[in-house]
Amino acid sequence: MERQKIASGVGMTSARTQKRLIQRLQDQGIHRLDVLNALTSIPRHYFIEEALAHRAYDDTALPIGFGQTISQPYIVALMTQSLLENTMSDYPFNRVLEIGTGSGYQAAILAKLIPEVYSIERMGALSHQAKSRLDHLGLPVHLKHGDGYEGWPEAAPFDGILVTAAAPDIPSALLHQLAPEGCLILPTGKTGEQQLLLVKRQGDQFHKTVLCAVRFVPFLPGTE
Ligand code: SAH
Repeated sequence: MERQKIASGVGMTSARTQKRLIQRLQDQGIHRLDVLNALTSIPRHYFIEEALAHRAYDDTALPIGFGQTISQPYIVALMTQSLLENTMSDYPFNRVLEIGTGSGYQAAILAKLIPEVYSIERMGALSHQAKSRLDHLGLPVHLKHGDGYEGWPEAAPFDGILVTAAAPDIPSALLHQLAPEGCLILPTGKTGEQQLLLVKRQGDQFHKTVLCAVRFVPFLPGTE
């Protein structure tokens, strides 16, 4: 009884704070309705620990254990919007790869918008947790526990690739797994001076644009 009351209390607060968050994202330049609708339909509080659930709809990154974080909603929305707007792959825009599954939240947002979503996570425990959350929500994401540095060659080419951990350089395997008109979005640079980069492939050419300054956890080698 008490548990039920608490649960419905969180539910009511979430609906209100989530609405406020969506308005804030819109004010900050997230103009695509499909992206805003995806963020509205995925309950972010489901991807974080119960103790932090009351902060789920703050526009901030939050810890998810193992020294990792779930990204700030604005950055999730911006990366998703940039991905959808910058691939010149032929319609239908079909297949994307995410590096750094973490909580599974960004993958869930992608799965609402794109038919085939692949995601790689180097930490087994996080990959496992993300799988049960995505299964529970009925979202069909292909997950792999592995080092994202290598990409996912068997599933390539990808119309888009999103990296959610900051690497010092652009992993070349990822560039080569892009479709001829695909795009890669990734944070690069050292802690404290990272930039979110958009790399658009046009045949054998790669055009880079800086989107904004960001703060991501580091891209690390190997698996745990
Ligand atoms: N997209 C996630 C954000 C997770 S934080 C979300 O929505 O919650 C970044 C994640 O990248 C961490 O879980 C970290 O373990 C993972 N990561 C770091 N280096 C990696 C690598 N080489 N391959 C795959 N995942 C990596």
